[in-house]
Amino acid sequence: MGEFELIRQFFQREQAENLPAGVVLGIGDDCALLQMPDGKQMAVSMDTLVADVHFPADAEAEQIGERALRVNLSDLAAMGAEPLWFTLALTLPETDEHWLRGFSRGLFRVAREFNCALVGGDTTSGPLSITLQVMGSVEPAHALRRDGASPGDYVLVTNTLGDGAAALAVLQGELQLNAEHEAYLRDRFYRPQPRLAEAKLLGGLASAALDISDGLIADLGHLCAASDLAAVIDVQELPLSAALQAVDDIDQARRWALSGGDDYELCFTVPPENMADIAMLVAQGKLQAKVIGELMPGAGVICELNGETFELPQPGYQHFR
Ligand code: ADP
Ligand code: MG
Repeated sequence: MGEFELIRQFFQREQAENLPAGVVLGIGDDCALLQMPDGKQMAVSMDTLVADVHFPADAEAEQIGERALRVNLSDLAAMGAEPLWFTLALTLPETDEHWLRGFSRGLFRVAREFNCALVGGDTTSGPLSITLQVMGSVEPAHALRRDGASPGDYVLVTNTLGDGAAALAVLQGELQLNAEHEAYLRDRFYRPQPRLAEAKLLGGLASAALDISDGLIADLGHLCAASDLAAVIDVQELPLSAALQAVDDIDQARRWALSGGDDYELCFTVPPENMADIAMLVAQGKLQAKVIGELMPGAGVICELNGETFELPQPGYQHFR
């Protein structure tokens, strides 16, 4: 199968009937032509997934496709943006139709779920690597930047932390839990939830936000640096799933929550005067989020457990050291 037949069969067919919102011209020309909604800013982000670095090379193609778009959408959520479109740069060692069918099925399932349309890309041969660029729209005043926090703001996270790292330990055979917990963790790894609905609620309430892809300490460290502040985290308050609570070594579970990657939860800061609104959203069940610490003048992220410093062996994942 040639390059153009491959594009037509696996990536273009989906949009054949009607053009998605804002797409004046889609796949097939030199460029796509896209129309932004009036008064909105465009949020753009890109992520690359490389075989054996970001996922096992023998992982199911459908799961890879699904995960690739989900982690990119998480960046839009972290900016408070709504998904519109994405492009796909695909490098493949061979034109394996079975693999491509699975990959595009997973990819388009997520695209439909979150209303994000594929509008172009590039296809080359080489070691398996997947790059997605997502584009979304954001109300200028509601963009969740990293540099907006102030001393005294609370630090919150959505849902639970550490599941991504624990899942990797399960996948690598280093952690054994009961079947239900292992299935939960596997699902958390392959189907991270972009917190788009949550992010939408935070516009106007949160002072800063990001998504946790490299571990809480590392990512919150970026927010602190951008806002020129320090954070103090109360390790006792870290939200852990039932699966993580079932891990024998609770300190290991906490270290995963603090420095394990791949959680794709939101970490955001809220000024005291907006906390009542956040508490209301939580009480109404619209937002699952928890206060884990606060910001103060200074630099860096400090972790405390029962008033003492909680030591961490490694701060977070980095590709180049
Ligand atoms: P060019 O040679 O101008 O770069 P290509 O041959 O790479 O064009 O691509 C032809 C068309 O197919 C373009 O509209 C491009 O955006 C689209 N395309 C290529 N690869 C993909 C892909 N993997 N997914 C979606 N669209 C793709
Ligand atoms: Mg090209």
